[in-house]
Order: sequence, then C-alpha cells, then structure tokens
Amino acid sequence: MQIHAIPAFQDNYLWVLAVDGAAAVVDPGDAAPVERFLEDRGLRLAAILATHHHADHIGGVPALARRWKCPVFGPAHDGVDGLSQRLVEGDRITVPGLGVAFDVLDVPGHTAGHIAYVRRDPDPVVFCGDTLFACGCGRLFEGTPAQMSSSLGKLARLAGATRVYCAHEYTLANIRFAEAVEPGNRALADRKARDTEKRARGVPTVPSSIAEELATNPFLRCSEPAVIAAAERRAGHALPGPVEVFATIREWKNTF
Ligand code: ZN
Ligand code: FE
Repeated sequence: MQIHAIPAFQDNYLWVLAVDGAAAVVDPGDAAPVERFLEDRGLRLAAILATHHHADHIGGVPALARRWKCPVFGPAHDGVDGLSQRLVEGDRITVPGLGVAFDVLDVPGHTAGHIAYVRRDPDPVVFCGDTLFACGCGRLFEGTPAQMSSSLGKLARLAGATRVYCAHEYTLANIRFAEAVEPGNRALADRKARDTEKRARGVPTVPSSIAEELATNPFLRCSEPAVIAAAERRAGHALPGPVEVFATIREWKNTF
C-alpha cells in the first residue's frame, strides 16, 4: 500500500491510499485536488474514509461519492451525513478495492464522535484526523480533557513503529509550544532540527511515529516529572493527576 499526501487549504493533508490501480481517500475536505491527483496517477476511487464531521475533512465527500459511486466509511456518532458504513470502536473494515484492513478506535475530544483508523501489521499506520497531531493534539471543541486524554492514551499504546498520519501540518508551531513546556528535552531539540529542515525543503513532517510522539509530544507526556512541573507552574498550584496536567497544558496551548 502506498500512501500519498495531497496538501489542501492552508495546512491540511488529504491522505490517499493506493494499491495497484485502486485508491481510498481519508478526510477529503475538498474534492477538486483529489480528482486531479486520481486523474494524474490513473487511479480509481474505491472508498472514502472520514474521521470526524468538520468541513475541512468531509467537504469533498458528497461530490466524490457521487462521481465514483463508492462507499463512505465514517463515525457513527459524529453527525456526518451520507455514510454507507457507520463505525464505532471494535469495528474492523476491509477497504474495498484495496483489501487493506483497519480497526476502528473511538477517540472523542476534538469532536464528540471522532474515530481513528488503525492498521496494526504489517507496517503499522494510524489515521487519526485532528486527535493526535505531530508534537501536539487537537483542540477540545466538543469533548472534555478526560475524554481527550483517554483518546490520546489509546493512540499512545499502539506499537511504537506505528506511523501517525494526522490531518494538518502544524508541527513546527507545536514544537515551539513543546519547547516552552519541556525546554530540556533532547529528543525534542533533535526533532526540531529534523522537522525544520523538512519544512525548509517543502517536505511534510507527517507521518511521524508513535515512538517519536512518546518522546517529544507534551500531550502524551503528562506523567513525566518535567511536564507535571511545567503545568503546575502554569496553574500556580499542585495538580492531582495526568488529566489535570493535560487540561492545563491544553489550555496553555490555546493562548500560546
Ligand atoms: Zn477538525
Ligand atoms: Fe481539521
């Protein structure tokens, strides 16, 4: 399976999976760049996968589904119209035309019904929409800090080699915030050098890996002493546990 990035809008990535001549697209916020990509490569669209209901993730779904008459997979409980398969955690899908299997995780927090698609092996990958970002996480539009930290915990427990395909190129801004939280993190400094160089060449920083996120992403490090200390300084008092640490740094990031 090949995975291609189609940049769209300001900083979105629409992900195309391709096996032989068949393709599936994850979170097509816009149909036009997907149609151009398929045309250029001589691919036929066999399926659409959606992670959540925001327009920059599903705006292109109706036009693509009409043109290609392909099934649309998406979250059962996130208010996405026109789904042919409504998914919840525990479901396993095999993408038509590609024969690739994904397990579904419920990852509420950014939206109430957000899901992620996980392929465990060979060559593990996760499509996590706006839940886990490279060195960051999505804003809490519809969920609580407890929900989001539990969702991030599910992703953090995937195999370290799992490549993380999130939906936005937010990495350098996220790294700047992560440095404010954990200025002494060596792995983070290395990542900054690597990802800055990629952006200078116009290359996506996505995918990262779960192992890299565990080492550098402050939102997955809410039990690390340095992150707890930074959150407690920010809050001005002791915090009882990782959910409160998460809530404090998520709030901090909103105004950073
Ligand atoms: Zn979103
Ligand atoms: Fe988005």
